[in-house]
Amino acid sequence: MKIRFWGVRGSYPVPGAHTNRYGGNTSCVEVRPKNGPHIIIDAGTGLRRLGKELMQTAAGEGKASSHILISHTHWDHIQGLPFFAPLYQAGNKLYVYARQRDDTHLRAVFATQSEDPYFPVPFNAAQADVAFRELVEGARFQLGEVQVSCTRLNHPWIAMAYRLDCDGASVVYATDTAPFTDILLENEFIKTPPRLGDPPSPEHAAKLRVMRDGLVELCRGADLVIYDTQFTRDEYKIRPHWGHSTPEDALEIALAARAKTLALFHFSPDRTDDEQDAILAATRAKVAGSGLEVVAAQEQMELELGEQ
Ligand SMILES: [Zn+2]
Ligand SMILES: [Zn+2]
Repeated sequence: MKIRFWGVRGSYPVPGAHTNRYGGNTSCVEVRPKNGPHIIIDAGTGLRRLGKELMQTAAGEGKASSHILISHTHWDHIQGLPFFAPLYQAGNKLYVYARQRDDTHLRAVFATQSEDPYFPVPFNAAQADVAFRELVEGARFQLGEVQVSCTRLNHPWIAMAYRLDCDGASVVYATDTAPFTDILLENEFIKTPPRLGDPPSPEHAAKLRVMRDGLVELCRGADLVIYDTQFTRDEYKIRPHWGHSTPEDALEIALAARAKTLALFHFSPDRTDDEQDAILAATRAKVAGSGLEVVAAQEQMELELGEQ
């Protein structure tokens, strides 16, 4: 399968001279299995350009279908959808997957961002056939030859990590998540950070342990793990309640799972290309000789896994 990055940034898009190399668009990753259907993970602003490219092929004639797996519905993971050209071409089929909420159906979550006064084209004007599938934590299902598994992450209002197995290879997409040591994030807004060093309550610690074990299991032996590395260690100390990780946290999970390659991902909007180069070099130095390869995701970077 082929993995291509269309957006690698967290929070909001940051075009400009200092972000050109890694790219300023928010989260969007394309997976093209040799023996399976077309898959997109997250619909951040990177999705727009992917949509334009797809329109040059079968999607332009209304003969394409894509499965879109959504980690969670924060803006930086869904804002590209109204600008995804295949959505407005009759005949195309889109299947959107995300975690089930208690209060709002997934279609309403997506449709609301296209409503007046936020956007001129209502979601109902989409010409493509769009189906929504709500997932529960731990769901496993097939998309053709692709086995999809998921587990929950430690993020405000909860995000899902996905693993895709196909073509004799596996990729895990794990963003957004805080580490599993200091704070339990669920369906609430935590205004102030915990005092780092204070252990979580036994009840929270138990939940965090289960979550971490689930993620390590999801990443077990994966050829590629794409992981939230929004913060440096110093930034995390100030904002542990924002639900993001550092490269050190990503290494810890990737090493525990014996993954083969780790892709740093979901970069802070404040991070310049040069700073990101330095973070990549420092992260690689930490695992030199371990057998774990580390890359930093860049827009248009393509990785090939397993059978092509
Ligand atoms: Zn995000
Ligand atoms: Zn988020």
